[in-house]
Order: sequence, then structure tokens, then C-alpha cells
Amino acid sequence: MSANSILVIGGGGAGLIAAWRAASMGAPILLLERNHKAGIKLLISGGGKCNVTHDGPIDDLGKAFPKLEERFLRYALHTFTNEDVRNMLLDKGVPTIIREDGRVFPESQRAGDVVGALVGNVLSSGGKMRFDARVTGILFGSGSVTGIALGGEQLSSRHVILTTGGASYKKTGTTGDGIAWGRQLAHTIVPLRPALAPLMITPPLPRDWRGVAVRGGRLSIHSGRGEIDSWQGDILFTHEGISGPAALGLSRRAALALEQDEVTLHLDLFPASDFAELDSQLNQVVNANRGKKIDTILCGMLPDRIVPYLLGKIQVPASTRGYVLTRDARRNIVALLKSWEIGRIGRIDIDRGEVTAGGIALDDVVPRTMESKKVRGLYLAGEVLDIAGPIGGYNLQAAFSTGFVAGASAARSWLESNEKNSRAADSSAQKERE
Ligand SMILES: Cc1cc2nc3c(=O)[nH]c(=O)nc-3n(C[C@H](O)[C@H](O)[C@H](O)COP(=O)(O)OP(=O)(O)OC[C@H]3O[C@@H](n4cnc5c(N)ncnc54)[C@H](O)[C@@H]3O)c2cc1C
Repeated sequence: MSANSILVIGGGGAGLIAAWRAASMGAPILLLERNHKAGIKLLISGGGKCNVTHDGPIDDLGKAFPKLEERFLRYALHTFTNEDVRNMLLDKGVPTIIREDGRVFPESQRAGDVVGALVGNVLSSGGKMRFDARVTGILFGSGSVTGIALGGEQLSSRHVILTTGGASYKKTGTTGDGIAWGRQLAHTIVPLRPALAPLMITPPLPRDWRGVAVRGGRLSIHSGRGEIDSWQGDILFTHEGISGPAALGLSRRAALALEQDEVTLHLDLFPASDFAELDSQLNQVVNANRGKKIDTILCGMLPDRIVPYLLGKIQVPASTRGYVLTRDARRNIVALLKSWEIGRIGRIDIDRGEVTAGGIALDDVVPRTMESKKVRGLYLAGEVLDIAGPIGGYNLQAAFSTGFVAGASAARSWLESNEKNSRAADSSAQKERE
């Protein structure tokens, strides 16, 4: 391997795509991964099924990100789209399917097949990979990257692609190394916060709620100034707190709000109906079941295990028969079904975030090349950047698209400088002959 190969640090989604793209353009590539194999985080993504991207017009996919991130990602998303991701996988014998909710998975439902395809692409286009290779620093001089350090060893290069990921799920290798180097190399670092993390609730939720799932509920977070954000989707009560897409979707805003204020979590179990509609529906159900106890009636509408808590909260005895349920008691039930204050959000652990929000500031990176504005020859892609999308395949798409652009622009620059060097060598040889 030439001393002047393009070095890619980190073999996750962004690094593997960057290495493949650059190698397929004819540049020599060496990818360095600290783990004993590539794509460890990809292997656990989407519950081991790997939600590779999201279906739909690419501009809509971009709009799922916060505004500044959307603007930064626009070029990359159009350069390597969700269709391109699906075609790339198909070319490697990994067809994908689109779920009803727009999420795209490999047909086999195996993340291993996705990693196999990405690694296969790098190797078949001539890229090299080195495992158990933890990079310890980026070498730099006169405004340009000059190589990397690997413990005592140094590798020279004028082109380094930094794809070391975020700072959560540290066991997968993402300990935030790239973010620390970004800071050393004078980049602005947007404070790191958890995103797509479960919410811990205080006081802890009743033990017998563990495992209860609510389909399509609406969770909202509130501070002293009112509602901050809400998210509708499936909700799962776990031994630690609340998980599922709705809770994960709120965690980034909740973590930010917690820095300022106390934050409470509210649950709307019937988001499709307003108060009056739900009251009328409940009234009809109660009238149709006048002889039944209210807990039996509600168990037909809600997960059984939460009904005793709901009735306890508004002090309606579970044995109350439908025909004696007062209008006020019914309206209290409806009020709770629409906005149940579940508790305070106690802690959001950054390591449990499926994504790290924050990282190297987007203002320090050129969106059309992914090259750093601070260090020539340093390219950045994936979660090391201040990018964090919602659940649904958005984060991998962002990693793939930015990786693709970083790989292409590093290769273009490498090819140009290589051509210049060979022209210079030719002309000096010519001079010597003359
Ligand atoms: C449990 C879980 C499930 C997820 N599910 C999905 C999903 O289904 N769909 C989706 O879109 N997103 C999902 N995500 C998010 C998605 O996996 C990440 O956003 C994406 O993998 C980021 O890609 P990346 O290449 O930037 O970083 P990573 O995939 O994290 O890769 C970074 C790589 O760099 C290596 N590295 C770090 N430091 C060094 C160093 N010093 N030297 C050498 N190598 C180093 C790491 O070992 C790692 O392999 C999930 C995340 C988690 C944790």
C-alpha cells in the first residue's frame, strides 16, 4: 500500500461507503477499524434487521432532519439517494423491502447481509482494510492533514476521511475519538446530547407496566412554559422507563430541555379523538355495557395492566357499574386518557442514545465535498458530524450519503494531485534526458 493512500478512519456505514466510492474511482484506500471486524453498530441496527433507509421523495427524507441539518445534507442526499442505497444493495444480491411506514429493510431481515454487501463493495473495488487498528491521532501541519497515528506507528497521507461515528453505544467502538480530534484541530464542537434514547421516569413506573405496549399513542414533553414537543407512535414500557419510537423521538428535545428545567412526560392514549369525541365514544361504550364494571369496560379499550392505575388516580372504584358512573367521573377518565402525566423525565443516558446529537459543527464542513474548512485534506462523514435524524432509516441514509460525497471528493483530490505529481515527474525526467 502506497504511503499516500487515502486513509479512512472507522468502518461503519459512512466509512465503508466512503472507502468503496473512493476505491471505485481508482484511488488507493486503506480503511482502519478499531474492532476486529467492520460494521459492529450496523449489525445491531434496527433490532438486527437494519433499517437501511426511508422510502419516498429524497427531499421529504431530508425534511425529517432539523432545518440546518437538512440544508447541509441536501447535496449529499441528492448525490447518493435512498434509491441508490437500495440499488447498491440489490447489485450485491441484497434486495430490500419497504414497510408500510416507509422504513426500508433487507428482504432477508438480516443486518449481516447489509454489512456483507458494504464490505464486499470495498474489497471488490480494490480497497484494503485493517482491523484491530485503533487510530490515536490525526497528524497535521501548515493547514493540511499529513497522516494519522496508530499508537507508536504513523501513516502518512494527504487525504484522511474521518468516520468514527458518535459517542454513544460505546461498546460498539464509538467512544467519540473523532470528535475529540475535531476539537484539537480547531473545529467547533456542538455539545453532545443523546438522541433516540429511552426516557427514564421518576418516580419509577409500576413494575407491572413492564412489557406493556401502546400502539400509536402520543407522548408529549412539558416544562414550566408548557408543551415543548410531542411525538406520535408506538410506545413501550420497559424495566427502565419508556422506549419505542415515540419516546425515542422525543429524547433529543427532552435532553436539551432538561438542561434548563424540570420536564414532565404526558401520554395521550387516543390521539385520533379530541376530548368531546372521546367522551361521546366512552359514553356509548358505557351505555352499551351498563351492567359491567368500569375496569372491565376500560380493559376492552386499553392495555389491561394500566387500567387499575388510571382508576386509582381519579379515585373511581374499579367495581363501579356502568349505570352508576357519573358524568364527572367519566369526564375525569377521558381527561386522563387524553393527557396522563406519567412522571418527570429523570435521566437520559447518552450511551443509550441510538444516535449522538451534536458533534463537529456543520459550519466547519463544506457540504458539497465534506472537506473540513479548518484542515485541508480532512473529510468528515456520518455521525461524527452534528447530524441526528429521527428513527426510521434516516441516520444510516445520512451516513451513507455523506460517506459517498466524502469518498468521491477525497478520491478526486487524490487523483488530481497524483496526476500533477506524475506530470512533474515526467517533465523532470524529460529535462534530465535533454
Ligand atoms: C441500537 C442501534 C440501532 C440503530 N438502528 C438504526 C436503524 O435501524 N436505522 C438507522 O438509520 N440508524 C440506526 N441507528 C443509527 C446508526 O446506526 C448510526 O447513525 C450510523 O451507524 C452512523 O454511522 P457512522 O458510520 O457515522 O458511525 P458508526 O456506524 O458508529 O461507525 C463508526 C466506526 O468507527 C470506528 N472507530 C471509532 N473510533 C475509532 C478509532 N479511533 N480508530 C478506528 N476506528 C474507530 C468504530 O469502531 C465504528 O466501527 C442505530 C443505532 C443503534 C446504536
